[in-house]
Order: sequence, then structure tokens, then C-alpha cells
Amino acid sequence: MLLSGDIGLFISFLGIPFLTFSLVDLTKAKKNNKPMKAAATTLIISLIATSVGFAMIEPEENDVAEKETPAAIEKVEEKTEEIKTKPEKPKEPEKPKKEQFEKVRDLKVHYIDVGQGDSILVQLPNGETALIDGGPESSSQTVLNYLKEQNVEKIDYLVATHPHEDHIGGLPIVIQNFEIGNIYMPDKTHTTKTFENLMSAIQNKGIKFKTPIAGDMLLDKEGLNLTVLAPETNINDDNLNNYSIVLKLNYKDNSFLFTGDAETEAEQNMLNGNYDLKSDILKVGHHGSYSSTTNKFLEKVNPEYAIISCGAENKYGYPHQAIIDKLEAKGIQIYRTDKDGTIIIAVDNEEIKIDFKKTAKPKKENAPPKEEKQSSYKNSQPNQSVNSNGESNKNSSNSGNTSSNGAVSKPKPPATDGVEEVYITNTGSKYHRGNCRHLKKSKIPISLKKAKSQGFTPCKVCGPPQ
Ligand SMILES: [Zn+2]
Ligand SMILES: [Zn+2]
Repeated sequence: MLLSGDIGLFISFLGIPFLTFSLVDLTKAKKNNKPMKAAATTLIISLIATSVGFAMIEPEENDVAEKETPAAIEKVEEKTEEIKTKPEKPKEPEKPKKEQFEKVRDLKVHYIDVGQGDSILVQLPNGETALIDGGPESSSQTVLNYLKEQNVEKIDYLVATHPHEDHIGGLPIVIQNFEIGNIYMPDKTHTTKTFENLMSAIQNKGIKFKTPIAGDMLLDKEGLNLTVLAPETNINDDNLNNYSIVLKLNYKDNSFLFTGDAETEAEQNMLNGNYDLKSDILKVGHHGSYSSTTNKFLEKVNPEYAIISCGAENKYGYPHQAIIDKLEAKGIQIYRTDKDGTIIIAVDNEEIKIDFKKTAKPKKENAPPKEEKQSSYKNSQPNQSVNSNGESNKNSSNSGNTSSNGAVSKPKPPATDGVEEVYITNTGSKYHRGNCRHLKKSKIPISLKKAKSQGFTPCKVCGPPQ
């Protein structure tokens, strides 16, 4: 095929000069009136030769062109495939790799001193903000002011760990005053006014809250994630504390565990769930109550620092000495909002820095609502079975018992800081010693001084201090 094309080319190249010469000859012959027969013959022959030559080339060229076209397309396709596959090929093994985040600041976790309760502000390194609980209503102004001081404008993740007053009381005012991204609550309602206030604040803001469960991720970026470790879906517990949303924050090699008021049962669920519980900083569950922080759980978390959020001289005796002893025995550094004020932990290039901010007049701020609550026990005796935050009955009724996994064999009596503590009931007018048989149905701790000032008289059966 190529050969005939070459011959055609050769013939037509030969023909062209002959054609030219014969044309010149013909013109000359015509000019000089010479016979034109020879010149005309040469012209015709060279014309035929040239056209035959071209004829031989043309189809060859078409042939080649037709054959080369699909091949060329294939090549182009190959190239485009290469372009497509080249950037994908190295990506394939990286598929599980998560989206990067842009670091705009250091991570800062503020355990705000809200008296008896929890409120934790998390300023994430990607510029987002999380607020885990809002403290009791009596501290709502403290929380509001603190967030404003930190130049918080939007709360991207607002978490109400569980519906107890010491965790959600301060949230309505926060919801009213800041832009809110998502609100997270456990799938558990409560019948208190505090809970109603929270629900209407959420409704007025036009936000629908989410009910995350263990395994969910609120934030999932490369080197920065916020994972839900509790609650499980199948909880059937009268104790609201065990519905607590427990969160783990991972930032590079640093980790924080926020446990809300999760107690033994919730801790056991987390252990059963085989989550990576290891955390550098543990917010000790339930204000340091012995109903949380079981040995197995503490072993898995294995923290370097323990933060206890509780009120000074709180009526529950938090943190319980047994928990302090347990943490100290493991060499864990303890910080307490009742003693240290607001605790701020900053992670700056892998380095953990701890700072404190003493709250001005913490006692004055917390004292009046405490008095109100105390007196409400007596005033609402006929129909109230739990106090306003629903905690005292559960905890006080456990006094002196072993925790369910036997982690705490004999919890020491609650620390009273020199204040003698006695117990009252929901319905009676007497105050009692902790072991009195009249405390079977309800057992509310109260200082001796307050019990007397509220008109309670000593029980004749147990003979409490007078
Ligand atoms: Zn609590
Ligand atoms: Zn609680």
C-alpha cells in the first residue's frame, strides 16, 4: 500500500515537469507556426501520467487517514484516561482519610465555675465553638458574661447532656443571646419547669434539637473530632444521669472526655461498647459522686488530669472523698471548680497549658438559690418526690451503700467542711442521722444549722446532733 503511494508520488512528480515542458513547447510551436503534434502528444502523455500518479496517491492518503483516525482517537482516549486515573490512583488508598481543617486558633477548654453544676466552653481550633451544659439557672448570668468575655458569637454545638437543672438551667439565656448551630440532647424528657424553659427557648429560636447516640460524630475532621460515646439507645433507667451525652474530643494527640453525670450503668455501657476511652483529661462524672468513676472505667480512661465541676460546700458532699482518694492513688492531677475557679486548658502545639480564673464572689452568687431550694423541700412536701434537680434523692439514698461494681467498698461520709450534716425526708418534720430507719423512703442531706433554722426537730429514734 505504501509502495503504490510512493510510485504514484514518483510518477506525478515526473509528470509535472513534463507537463510544464510540453506546455512551453506547445506555446512555442504555436508562436512560430511549427507543427504542434509532438508537443501536444507530450502534453497529453504527461497529463495522463500526472493524473494517474495523483490518482495513485489520493486513495492511499485517504486510506491512511481513515486508519489513523480511530487509532488517534484511541490514543486520545488513553491520554484522557490517564489524566482521569492519575490523580485518582494515589487517592484510592487514602479514601478513609478525613477532610482537613484549617487551624485558626489553639484549642481551649473552659470548665466554667458555675457553682454546683456543669458548664464547659470548648473553643475548637477550627474556629467553631461548643458549649457542653449551661450550669444551673442561678449561674446563667455568669455563663452569659463568660461567653461574652471570650468573644463567643456563635455556638456551633450546644449540648445539654441531660435534663437536670444543674446542667440545663443556664441554657435558655445562652440560646436567647447567641447564634446557635445545632442543639444536642438525649432522647429523654423531664417534667420540670427548667426543662420546659429550655424547650421553649429552643422552640422560640426555631431550632430542632438532635438526639445523638453512642457512635455518632458531631465533628469529624483529620486530627479533630468530637465523638458521642453515650447514651446507648436501649436505656431503661429511672436515673436521668445515665442518659447523659458523653463526648470525647480528640485534637491531634490530645483527648478530653466529657462525661456529664454518667453513672456506673452508663460507664459499663461505654466499656461494653469497646470505645477508645483513653483520654488525657477527664471531666469526672457526676461532680465526683461515688456513683460514677468506677475502677474499670477509670482504668480505661487512664487520664493525666481530672476535672471536678462542683459547688463549694454543696449539699450533696461532692466530690466524695472516695473518688478523690481513687484519683490520687493513681497519681492523677485533680482540679476542682469549687477550689480553683474556672479551669482553662489550652492545647498549644501539643503542649497542654492549664490556667485558672477565680470567680468573684462565688459564694454570694450561689448562696441565695441554695437557700431557696432548701426551703422548697419543706414547702412542697405534699406532692414533690424529687427536688428541683432530681439528684439528691438518688445520691443520698445511696449513702453508705457499695457502688454496683464494688469499686467503692465503704464511701466515707460526705465532706462537710466542718459543717455537721443531717438528713431530712420529703414528708417529715424531723432531721435524722444517716443510718436512721426513717430515711428508707427519702433521704435529703442538709446541714444541721439549716435543718434547725427551717424548723426541723431532732428524730427521737436516731438521736442526731442538736
Ligand atoms: Zn449534675
Ligand atoms: Zn444530673
